[in-house]
Amino acid sequence: MAIINENYLKLSNNYLFSEIAKRVKAFKENYPDRNVISLGIGDVTQPLPKASVDAMAKAVEEMGKITTFRGYGPEHGYDFLINAIIKNDYLPRGVELSPSEVFISDGAKSDCGNIGDILSINNSVGVTDPVYPVYVDSNVMSGRAGNLTNAGWSNVVYMPCNTANNFKPRIPQRHIDIIYLCYPNNPMGVVLSKKELEDWVEYALENDSLILFDAAYEAYIQESDIPHSIYEIEGAKKCAIEFRSFSKTAGFTGVRCGYTIVPEELTAFTPDGKPVGMNRLWNRRQCTKFNGTSYITQRGAEAIYTEQGQKQVKNTISYYMSNARHMKSAFEEVGIDVYGGENAPYLWLKTPDCLSSWEFFDRMLYEANVVVTPGVGFGPSGEGFVRLTAFGRKEDCSEAMNRIKRLLN
Ligand code: PLP
Repeated sequence: MAIINENYLKLSNNYLFSEIAKRVKAFKENYPDRNVISLGIGDVTQPLPKASVDAMAKAVEEMGKITTFRGYGPEHGYDFLINAIIKNDYLPRGVELSPSEVFISDGAKSDCGNIGDILSINNSVGVTDPVYPVYVDSNVMSGRAGNLTNAGWSNVVYMPCNTANNFKPRIPQRHIDIIYLCYPNNPMGVVLSKKELEDWVEYALENDSLILFDAAYEAYIQESDIPHSIYEIEGAKKCAIEFRSFSKTAGFTGVRCGYTIVPEELTAFTPDGKPVGMNRLWNRRQCTKFNGTSYITQRGAEAIYTEQGQKQVKNTISYYMSNARHMKSAFEEVGIDVYGGENAPYLWLKTPDCLSSWEFFDRMLYEANVVVTPGVGFGPSGEGFVRLTAFGRKEDCSEAMNRIKRLLN
């Protein structure tokens, strides 16, 4: 008899996005002639950079010739991409990495979800509230999150983010073994300053904690003094793993490529307190369970670091950030409190008239025909907020803002 991993039974269904889909479907059935605009989506709308398309087409040609065909690649990625990442994403920010510290993958979601494989289920886990749900659910699956109580998962420490702390978690007063930080943040759209990130690194070093730093949106940072990588902070290589993604940087949501940095000097501990290098464990995990990202994909990712690629990527990011600015000023005009959207493609809105997240969602859907994401779906502290993304088409964002201004003015 095969016995299941019962932890999966503890997971709720993905209530947030299925409930949104259900309500939008019901609306469209009742009002089939209305043009519904979705500003709730977390997916991009602009096509791949031309440099990546050309590089992938060339790689496909290579795969079709006996002389240049490639089969399995190195599990941790091809040197050409690893070296391009080190040279372009880290060295200019004063961070030196060796190729063995960079692991190419099929995206940040897999790596954020899989990293728990090399960590004991007895660790305590800290997350912000609201939070990107993958961090919590992957810990539920392994049993690390404990049991669901009225206050959330018993082994998860929730760090509320609200107007009182500018949506940035306070440094915990107690010990937490593993802490997930995501900056620029999804869903709240905020970033951490260098000083704020230094405080986290100091906490982690003092407490022997591990920071899992998700920098999937670093390319959206506009202000020059905001750190893009946690390794810009002294000592971070001793306490942090960093996840990055080509999804939102270069439109790779459907192509799939990301990477994870596990520094050689990063250690965690055996139950009796002996330090063990995390790099060796992650390498072993990846070599056993992952057979590498496709050669074609990695050539496409490498191409974003060419001069043309960089220009094209920057253009697309400017396009989305111009949406963000436009949306933010439209909400400010009608007197809605709006946060984020300056160094991130996400806007975090306080609902007007004390409406709940879902009440405001319905109002937007029925009266402006615009879909937003209820903040409460990301955690209890998200109640009374909604998330909007800047990833839509410019004309859709403009039309949505006109409708919302008419409605709320
Ligand atoms: N991390 C965060 C915070 C995200 O919002 C997302 C995607 O929405 C991901 C990771 C996933 O990225 P990828 O497409 O590389 O799996």
